[in-house]
Amino acid sequence: MNESERARRIVAKFGGSSVADAASIKRVAARIVAAKQAGNEVVVVISAMGDTTDELMDLALQVSPQPQPRELDMLLTTGERQSAALLAMAMNDLGVEALSYTGSQAGVITTAQHGNARIIDITPGRIEKSLEEGYVVIVAGFQGVSQTTKDITTLGRGASDTTAVALAAALGADVCEIYTDVDGVYTADPRIVKGARQVPRISYDEMLELAACGAKILHLRCVEYARREGVTVHVRSSFSNKPGTLVTGLVDMQKGNAMEEAIISGIAHDRGEAKVTVAGVPDQVGVAAMIFEVIAECDVNIDMIVQNVSEVATGATDITFTVPMSDGKKAVDALNAAKDRIGFTELRYDDQIGKVSVVGVGMRTHPGVTAKFFGALAAANINIQMISTSEIRISVVVGADDVDAAVRAAHTAFGLDSVSGEAVVYAGTGR
Ligand code: ADP
Ligand code: ASP
Ligand code: MG
Repeated sequence: MNESERARRIVAKFGGSSVADAASIKRVAARIVAAKQAGNEVVVVISAMGDTTDELMDLALQVSPQPQPRELDMLLTTGERQSAALLAMAMNDLGVEALSYTGSQAGVITTAQHGNARIIDITPGRIEKSLEEGYVVIVAGFQGVSQTTKDITTLGRGASDTTAVALAAALGADVCEIYTDVDGVYTADPRIVKGARQVPRISYDEMLELAACGAKILHLRCVEYARREGVTVHVRSSFSNKPGTLVTGLVDMQKGNAMEEAIISGIAHDRGEAKVTVAGVPDQVGVAAMIFEVIAECDVNIDMIVQNVSEVATGATDITFTVPMSDGKKAVDALNAAKDRIGFTELRYDDQIGKVSVVGVGMRTHPGVTAKFFGALAAANINIQMISTSEIRISVVVGADDVDAAVRAAHTAFGLDSVSGEAVVYAGTGR
């Protein structure tokens, strides 16, 4: 946001590391005031301060090993309410009237699923009215209210991004600005790859794939929402005035565009999955279906799957798959409960893994991407545990300790290393 820009309607989201303490809240307030005074209508979506959400989660687990989902959501949403109110106070002191709203007050209507609710509607009447009256509106991110139960819900970790894009769509905003602790979207996480390159533009499809593979710079559902509603997302740092990255529809291939002729748009990693191995499964029709029905019934998403060749002696096979680590216990408990029905001999669980993915729409037409990726991992002495591919992605599971080295090896192998200096990480603990 700068003063030379024409008057627009802007939704600006500030992440937790941008509002980690009182001084940061004042700094962000000043930035928003400048945007407002330039004549823009401004809606701010705010995350909880620093690592507040993690700390609230830790606190809940100290009180109760398995907190009730409804109460956990009541607790976690206080993080965003706190930062929203503080930001409004700081702005009012700077002479710009601001009103903070909870997600529910802002009209964020969701499904009833605690911890991972989806936005089904936005009724932004109150926001529209406040904008008309000249206020800057500050909305607590990551939360809403269930249409059916009327209970307070959260939208999943990192979902303030999704609140922002959904509001931008509902309010017909010109742009959704996502302010964070790095200068935009890079070819890999700059916390791991110092020589990662920032890209000026990236297409929805590529950003979607990177986010789906774990690049936490944007919440996956935020990118889905932006693509569906055609919202331009502008990722930039709240600590600098650098131009950032535009996430848009078609990326033009003009000269000077960093994406020009790129085969690979980036390397993503994900430490949030665990590996479940169902060993000694009878190699018979219908058994795999039975296993995955059990997992589906407990509402756990499966990512990668590998089935081994059955052993001649026993006629049994092993099926290995990955699930979100947070759902690991649920999946294991459900399978153990169905042990006799499925007929397996052993269940193994391993959360010391990570997934590393090479993403790029250009790889469709370039053979040899897999060979190059695996060659780079071999040269770095990294063992591959699982593999999965799509038209525009290759993912491998490696040991948790190998994730950083694998990301760096792939980044270098695909010629993504920057020639113009190191990426800056301004804040945040990376938690
Ligand atoms: P916020 O608190 O602003 O929501 P997040 O921690 O959720 O910030 O997301 C920003 C972080 O995403 C960066 O600090 C960086 O470590 C990480 N990240 C992962 N992949 C990428 C990528 N490809 N480009 C930029 N940042 C990335
Ligand atoms: N505070 C929430 C979280 O830490 C939501 C967000 O930051 O986007 O997951
Ligand atoms: Mg985030």
